[in-house]
Amino acid sequence: MESIHLEDMMLEIFLKKKHFYPNDYKQSIYDIDFSQLKSIGIQSVMIDLDNTLIPYDLNSPTQKIIDLINYIKSLDLNVIIISNNKEKRVKRFCDAIKCAFIFSARKPLKKGFKKALRILGNPSPTSVALIGDQFMTDVFGGNRMGFYTIVVDAIKRKTEKWYTKFNRRLERKVLNRLKRTDLDFYNKLHLDEKR
Ligand SMILES: [Mg+2]
Repeated sequence: MESIHLEDMMLEIFLKKKHFYPNDYKQSIYDIDFSQLKSIGIQSVMIDLDNTLIPYDLNSPTQKIIDLINYIKSLDLNVIIISNNKEKRVKRFCDAIKCAFIFSARKPLKKGFKKALRILGNPSPTSVALIGDQFMTDVFGGNRMGFYTIVVDAIKRKTEKWYTKFNRRLERKVLNRLKRTDLDFYNKLHLDEKR
């Protein structure tokens, strides 16, 4: 009997539309050249919270993060945090860095992103960069919106929740397929050690 595998079905959709291909990859958010982003027309930056800025087992920003956010703001870039996590955690963090935020964003669905765009004053999606650590939520969702997507390595994998682990399994499948079908692109991502 033939059984339908949800993961394989999702994989087909992702692959057809190439929606999970990020525009760029960096090891961490600190490796992103924000002034270069400005020079290519980016005016706003949407940043994922968990494992992009802090691991799951931390709940406050470090001084390094506060400095980075202030630096991004000093370049006259708008910053908004977009997280699938709950209000309490996201608000606490964003109050500390004095940033607008979207909690329970349900990435990769469009609703949360659209809400974020409204807060930013409805800029053109092509002027928005989306930075996150997951292909299935951040890259896929950001690409669907027409943002410039940048994927970074997760800060700490061990403390990820079950649903993130599920997404990681899909991510591995997607990346394995990508490795077979588009090795040049895959190599450009330099992800071998981490994913
Ligand atoms: Mg994340």
